[in-house]
Amino acid sequence: MEGRGKEAVHKCHSDPGGSGRRGRSYSGRKCVLTLDGYSYVIVASPPERPPTKEDAPSPTGEMPSINRNGQLSKQGSLTIVRRSSAKKQQRTTSEEESVDSDDLTTDNLPAIDTPDACDKAAARLRCLLKQLERGEISADVLQKNLQYAARVLEAVFIDETKRTDSKAATDRSEGETTINITQRKLKTPVWAVRSSVRKKEQGEESSRRLADEDDELSEVQPDAVPAEVREWLTSTFTRQLAPTRCRKEEKPKFRSVAQAIRAGIFVDRIYRRMAASGFMQFSPEIVEVLKSLDDWSFDVFSLGKAAQNQPVRYLGYDLLNRYGCLSKFKISLQTIENFLNRVEQGYLRYGNPYHNNLHAADVAQSVHYMLCQTGLMNWMTDLEIFATLIAALIHDYEHTGTTNNFHVMSGTDTALLYNDKAVLENHHLSASFRVLKEEDCNILSNMSREEYREFRSLVIETVLATDMSCHFHQLKNMKNLLSLQEPSIDKAKALSLVLHCCDISHPAKKWDLHFQWTSLLLEEFFLQGDREKELGLPFSPLCDRKNTLVAESQIGFIEFIVDPSMSVCSDMLEAILAPVVAPAAAKEVKRSVSVSEDTRKHHEQINCDDAPPPFTIKKPWLTCLAENKKIWKERAVIDAAARAAAEAAAAAEAEEEERRKQEEEGQKSEGKVEE
Ligand code: AMP
Ligand code: ZN
Repeated sequence: MEGRGKEAVHKCHSDPGGSGRRGRSYSGRKCVLTLDGYSYVIVASPPERPPTKEDAPSPTGEMPSINRNGQLSKQGSLTIVRRSSAKKQQRTTSEEESVDSDDLTTDNLPAIDTPDACDKAAARLRCLLKQLERGEISADVLQKNLQYAARVLEAVFIDETKRTDSKAATDRSEGETTINITQRKLKTPVWAVRSSVRKKEQGEESSRRLADEDDELSEVQPDAVPAEVREWLTSTFTRQLAPTRCRKEEKPKFRSVAQAIRAGIFVDRIYRRMAASGFMQFSPEIVEVLKSLDDWSFDVFSLGKAAQNQPVRYLGYDLLNRYGCLSKFKISLQTIENFLNRVEQGYLRYGNPYHNNLHAADVAQSVHYMLCQTGLMNWMTDLEIFATLIAALIHDYEHTGTTNNFHVMSGTDTALLYNDKAVLENHHLSASFRVLKEEDCNILSNMSREEYREFRSLVIETVLATDMSCHFHQLKNMKNLLSLQEPSIDKAKALSLVLHCCDISHPAKKWDLHFQWTSLLLEEFFLQGDREKELGLPFSPLCDRKNTLVAESQIGFIEFIVDPSMSVCSDMLEAILAPVVAPAAAKEVKRSVSVSEDTRKHHEQINCDDAPPPFTIKKPWLTCLAENKKIWKERAVIDAAARAAAEAAAAAEAEEEERRKQEEEGQKSEGKVEE
C-alpha cells in the first residue's frame, strides 16, 4: 500500500449539490485517492437533515433524498463512486520495496492506532504478497504480520461490511420496533476473482388462536392419505420444544475514512491472493458447477462429483467467503479448511445414503438462496449470517443414518445421553461444538465472548428446531404470529423456520433432484428397517422395504408438510421484508425519473389510493411442488395398478397351487382305492 505523502494521492473538494446527488441543497465532499496505480473517487456525504420550507421540490418533483427506509439518514455516508479503468505507471520505489523482505519481524512496529501503523502494515502486506507469489514465506512470519495488519485494521474500522452509507434504521409504530437494514452485496467468488486476475495478467482490464399441534393433523381428511402414511406423519412431525434467546444490537464504529477504505481494499486483496496461491484450488469442473450456486434448483449432485465428494469443503468455503464471514471474523484459510474437512468427514462417518455431506451442502445452498435471493440477508447482522450458514453446514453432523425413534426404541448410548429428547439434533450440535474447540478447527477463536455466546445460542436454537417433531408447533406459532396486526418476528425463530424449510426442501426442487433425494432417503429408511427386523423391533413407518407406499408417502409429505412449510416461510419472509423494501420501492416508483409514465399509471390504476403494490418474493418452489406432486400422483396410479396386478397374480398362483394340491390328493386317493 502506498504511504501517505508518497504514492497515495488524496485530492479533496466539495461537491456543491448539483452534480452528485440531485435535489440536495447542501454539499458533499469528493476525494480522489490514488492507490496501487488506480484512482478511486470517493464521495463523502454529511448526515441528512430534515427538509425545511426552503427545500423546494426539484423540477422533477423530487424532494431531498430519503433512504430505503423512508427515513432520513442520521449518519454520514461514504461511497466509492468510480475507479479509474487504467492503471497508472507504478513508481519503481514503491512501498513494498521499502520493506526489506528479510526484515518482517514484528517486534518494533508502531502502535496499531497510529497513522504510521497503517502504512507499515500495508507495506508489509505488499511485501508478503511478493513473497507469497515467490513461495518464500514462512508460516510464522505470515501469521504474525497478518495478525498485526488485522489489529491495525480493527483500530481504523470495526465493521467492514456495515458501511455507514448503507446502514439505515427505521422506527416503526413510534419507536416500538427497530428494523436494521444493511444493503449487502456478496463478494465475488474466489474462483471468479481468480479468472479475472488471470485476464488482468494477460493484459485485459475488464398469531391466530394457538391450537394444539395435533389439530393440524386432524385437519387432514382421514381418507386423504393411507393409514400408514398418516401414522408416519403423526409419529415424525408432532411434539414440540423451543427456547428463547437474548440478543443485543451491534453498533458499527467508523474512525478514519481514508484509512478504512485503503484497509478494506488491501484486506480483500490479500485474501484473494492467498486464496489464489494454493489453499483452496477450485478445479474448472467445480467452477462450472458453482456458477449456478445462486439458483433454487442448484445441482448439488454435480458439485459432489466435480468436487470428488467434498461438496462441504468447496461450497462451505465459497459461501463463507462470499458473505464476508472469513474476513469479518478473521478466520485463517487453514482453519476454515480444517474445519470444513472435519465437518465433511463427520458426515461420511456412517456411510449414509441420504444424511451425508451432500445433504449438508444441499441445505446450506438452499439457505444461501433464501438469504440472498429474497433479500433476507439485508435484515441480518454479519454474525447472524455466519451462524445461519454454519448451522446449515453442521445441522446433521455425524448423523447415524437412523431416526430419533430408532435411537429411543433401541436404547442407544446417544438416546441415554440426551434422555430421548431430540437425540440426533443434540448430538449434531454437541459434536460440532467439540470440533470447534479444537485449536486448528476453531473458526470462532477471534470472536469476542459476547459474539461467541450469541453465535452459539443461535446455532443451537436453529439446529434443535430441525427436529421434525417440532414441525407443527413451529408452523402453528409462526402462523399465529403472522396473523397479528403488527407481528414482531424474533430473528432466531425466523431463521429456524428458514433452516427447517431448507432441510425438507428437496420436494420443492426440480423433479430430477427430488427423485434422487427421495430414493436415497428411502434406501436409508429401508436399511434401518432391516436392522429393526434383526433386532426384533417393529418397523418404523416407511422402513419396511417390502411394504412401503412410496408415491403415496411423497404426496402426503408434499401436501401436508413441505407445501404448508414453504407457504408459511414465504409469508414470513414477505412480512419481514415488506416494511423495509416495499415503502422504498413504492417511493422509487413515484420519484424516479427513469420510471416510464406507463409504469407509473399502471401502479396508480391497481392502487387507486396510491398504496404501494404488495411486496412479494420470488417463489420458484411453487411450480416444482405442483409438478412433483403431479408426477407422484401419476406414479401412485401406476403403482396401485401394479400392486393390484401383483395381488391378482399372487391370488391366481395360490388358486393354482390349491388346485394342484387337490389334484395330487385326488390322484393319491384314487391310487389307494385301486390298491
Ligand atoms: P433431517 O433428518 O434433519 O434431514 O430432516 C429431514 C427429515 O424430513 C427427514 O429425516 C425425514 O423425516 C423427512 N423427509 C425428508 N425428505 C423426505 C421424503 N422425501 N419423504 C419423507 N420424509 C422426508
Ligand atoms: Zn437434514
